[in-house]
Formats: sequence, structure tokens, C-alpha cells
Amino acid sequence: MNNWIELSAERLTANLRVIQTVAGLDTTVLAVIKANAYGHGAEDCAPILVRAGATWLGVTCANEGARVRLALAAAGLTAEILIMSGFLPADVAAIHQHSLTPVVWSQEHVAWLAGYPATRVHLEVDTGMGRQGVTPGPELDALLAELAAAGLVADGIFTHFCSSEVTGSPLTHLQQQRFSGVVAQVQAAGLCPTYLHAANSSALDNPEAAAWLARLASRLGAHPMVRTGLSLYGYALPIEGAVTARLRPLLQPVLTWKAHVLSVRSLAAGDTVGYNAIFTAEREMRVALLPVGYADGLRRELSATNAKPGGWVMLHGVRAAILGRISMNLTVVDVTDIPSVQAGDEAIVLGDGITADDHAALARTISYEILCGIHPCV
Ligand SMILES: *Cc1c(COP(=O)(O)O)cnc(C)c1O
Repeated sequence: MNNWIELSAERLTANLRVIQTVAGLDTTVLAVIKANAYGHGAEDCAPILVRAGATWLGVTCANEGARVRLALAAAGLTAEILIMSGFLPADVAAIHQHSLTPVVWSQEHVAWLAGYPATRVHLEVDTGMGRQGVTPGPELDALLAELAAAGLVADGIFTHFCSSEVTGSPLTHLQQQRFSGVVAQVQAAGLCPTYLHAANSSALDNPEAAAWLARLASRLGAHPMVRTGLSLYGYALPIEGAVTARLRPLLQPVLTWKAHVLSVRSLAAGDTVGYNAIFTAEREMRVALLPVGYADGLRRELSATNAKPGGWVMLHGVRAAILGRISMNLTVVDVTDIPSVQAGDEAIVLGDGITADDHAALARTISYEILCGIHPCV
């Protein structure tokens, strides 16, 4: 492999500790490693996080949960594993076999799990995300009754905010009000779940949300839990509004994406670079070829024309601008001003000096999509 990812176990550990400190020691931190740990490798990150003190991990699906369970077992470790993004009847055997905790929100879920009484589940309530979750009110009451009848244990109750990075969002306020109502409903049903949770990274970063959840949890006699993903990996969305982010300044990116320079060559004035010749050398230049492209997840929006600069990589500690179109497996960068560059040198494609936020700005997306978009083969 001529392009690869290096993970800093130290930074991943430090980020988890920062999150735990900001959340408060009474709060359980569920480390979200879904989507292959946001491109970082779920089976690599899980043991590091558990050694650093994580007791709960969040995965996408039963299949990912099973792989994480095996990776933990191989390291002699254990943790609770929450399946966050749904399951189907075909997953139930794996859920049971690997002691995974499914998120449930429908009568079908309860029916599918009914063959395994005493299975612990987390119940998701939809307070405004409009994606998954049972609706508060009669539907929630009915589901709570069915859970009890099937002998399933509601170990956690939770909801998910749709705009937690927006300070003073009326939508978040509404979701909080609805979730308070949910807690009253759960109490009235005589249930005492172990965990109550609502916050993702941004909700924790934003000081408003966290205190609210702790109050609500104590009313129910439950432990507050936060579900942090992005912040574990050292990134954060900008918090919109007047408040100061609590987490963002303390986080360090965990992932460095590197590539070895394949070759170096000269261009004469007038030579063009790459598909459709969108870049023309205006003077004599030296350029380096890197074995990384959009097949690896390097976004094509980082391509550059003469008029519009694109992305860059770090070579010998300085910026080397991308020239022309990014190809499937190859990218050309300008090393005219870094004359010592030669084949075999290490370039940083993403890491210190060129962050996932930089990639995201150029690709008009969010750091989440950039990180998740790094191909697993890298
Ligand atoms: C992905 C996800 C999270 C983690 O979100 P971050 O913004 O990465 O911290 C938390 N809760 C749910 C329900 C999610 O789907």
C-alpha cells in the first residue's frame, strides 16, 4: 500500500478523557465507532477506547457489532455494544450470540426479539429527528407494554437532537420539552432504565444541553449517558451562536493519512496536468506524483485549475498544492518550492497541516463525510 492511515492511540485516549471530563465523571460516555469508526477502523479503535476506560461502544449494525466483539475478545477486553442504526430478523441470532444491545423503536423489533427474553435493549424516542424512534404518547405507552410482555429489559431510553450545534435552537428546545414528557411517561409506566441519553458531540460541546440531561436523568434515577463520535476522533462542528465551545479547543485529530511520493518530474511552461488539462504550467515547475486518488476517498473537489486553487498536501512540513484533476488512484502536487522532494518521501494527505475540516470546506461538506469517505482499503 502506497497510501495508508496512521492512528494515534495517545490522541484517541486523550480525546476520550477530555470528553469524560467535560461530560462529568457521573456521566457514562458511549464511544460511537459506527461506520467503521468514522473511517478510522472500528476493530482498531475499539480496544484502544476500552483500554482508555470506555464501557459502551456504539456500532452501526449487528455485523459491525460482531466484528468489534471478536476484536475485543482477541484483546481480552469486554464492553457493552449498542447497535445504533437498526436491525432485521436475520440479525437477531448475532445479537444474541455476541451479546449486542439493539436499539428498538417499533413493535416489529419487539416481536423479532421476543424469542430471547431478558435481552437488554435501548429504546429510541423520536422527539423531532424524524428518522427513527417511537412517537411519544400512546405509541410509546403501547411499546413499553409490549416490551414488558415480551420480557425484554429497557436498559436505556434516549432521543437524538437534529440541531444540537445551533445555540438556542427552538427545535432543540422543543425536543427537550418532548423528552421531559417522555421521562414522565416512562416514570408513570413504572420503568427505571439504567441509562438516559440524548447528547451527541455537539450537544456536549454546547454547554446548554448537558446540564439539562443530568437533571432529567436524576429525576428518573437513571445514569446520564452521552453518545460521542466525531469528537473522539478530534473534530467538532462549529457551534453556531454566542456560546464558547467546551470540547473543540481540547481535541486533537487522531488520524493521519499519508502517501509516498511515487516520482518527481519537471514541467515546461505550457505543459498541462491531468484529465481535461484543467491546469497549465505558466512557468517551469517541479511536480510530484502521489499514489492516492478518489478511489481512496480523496475528494475530487480538491482538484485545482489555474484560476481556482484546490487542496494541498504537506511535504517536508510545507504545503504542496494539488494541480489539475485528482484521478482515480493518482494526484499531482506542486513541489517547485520544495526542491529536496524525491520518490519515497512521505506526504500528509490529511492530518496536521491539512485537516478533515479543510477537505470538507473544499468539498462543500462536513468533516464526518470526509473521514467516513476514506476507503477501508486505506
Ligand atoms: C452518529 C450518532 C451519534 C454520534 O454523533 P457525533 O455527532 O459524531 O457525536 C450519536 N447519536 C446517534 C443516534 C447517532 O446516530
